[in-house]
Amino acid sequence: MSSLHPRLITMVDKLLQHPPRSVQVALGELFPLDEDQLRAQWNELTEHTSLENAALNIRLVRAEQQCMVCFQKYHPQNQETACPHCKSVGAKIIAGEEFYLESIKEENE
Ligand SMILES: [Zn+2]
Repeated sequence: MSSLHPRLITMVDKLLQHPPRSVQVALGELFPLDEDQLRAQWNELTEHTSLENAALNIRLVRAEQQCMVCFQKYHPQNQETACPHCKSVGAKIIAGEEFYLESIKEENE
């Protein structure tokens, strides 16, 4: 079991102030937690709280990097950093590190 991610703990703390019925989060492919790990940690944090029955929806954000040599954009495979076009190492991450609350649904909606 990996340790609970501080950003998820903060998110759950905030949600507990006004527990919604369902929650949608955006999760980047490069974020340290994958979908299953996020769900497991969510369950652990919300068990026996007013969020216990809230639905967790996860929208995965595909990773994208841009090569700093040829400026081509590409989708990194297995966390690789070498450019598939020119083989250079050194890329800027454009997308994939996201983790944020995207929307919530309240009880009466
Ligand atoms: Zn390149």
